[in-house]
Amino acid sequence: MARRALAVLSLLAAAAPAAAQVALPDPSLLAGMTDWVDSVVVADSVHAVPEQWRGLRVGPADAPPPADLADLPDSLRARGREPRLRAPVLAVLAAMARAAARDGVAIRVRSGYRDPDTQRRLFETRLAQGRTFDDIAWGVAPPGYSEHMLGTTMDFDLGGQGAEGPVYAWLARNAWKFGLVESYPEATAGVFPWEPWHWRYHGPIPPVELTEAGLPRAVLAALGLVPGSAARDEAARPAGGAEAARLEPDDEAGGAANN
Ligand SMILES: [Zn+2]
Repeated sequence: MARRALAVLSLLAAAAPAAAQVALPDPSLLAGMTDWVDSVVVADSVHAVPEQWRGLRVGPADAPPPADLADLPDSLRARGREPRLRAPVLAVLAAMARAAARDGVAIRVRSGYRDPDTQRRLFETRLAQGRTFDDIAWGVAPPGYSEHMLGTTMDFDLGGQGAEGPVYAWLARNAWKFGLVESYPEATAGVFPWEPWHWRYHGPIPPVELTEAGLPRAVLAALGLVPGSAARDEAARPAGGAEAARLEPDDEAGGAANN
């Protein structure tokens, strides 16, 4: 079987023209294609995904929820919230919360898994209010682009103090030891609003991989940023849509920060 496959491959190779004989089309042929590739359907229309989100889709906009989602115990939930996370990540969270408690810091989660349909509704509500798709996308991930659909990502309750409070200070010093990384940190604030509450489980992170800002280099590379640089494209930020000084995530039903 393997020998026959090899024979077929060598026949194909013999029939294929040499690369130099192929006239390569001008790259302008691809103009506009990135808009088409990164697009979502919201309110019965196809919308091009804005620059800052392109290449960052985390899954299909109709992806089913992970099979191992688990409810967080009362001790790990923010008041009035009912977050769910994938069970292995919940175990990590519980261990991290115990470590934080030994330091006198209470770790509580406001938001965990969120399905892509919720992201779509967030857009539809805002479009109906007259806002543009690009403006909304500054603070709300398009359907299929929110890390919350992974079930590995959580918004912490920062006690109303945002990055100025003890919860964030503890997370910034220690969360990487538990494989958690701040997804939209101050270092990328020109590309996405800074969300000090939003952390994603990435798996074990060797200290050597951490930048001065406490971020794994691979994460910055995935965002198109190099350690220590400013945001990759200040112009990508639409005017008027940002609330850069937010301290906490807004409510999922009506707020602005829902990446
Ligand atoms: Zn979040």
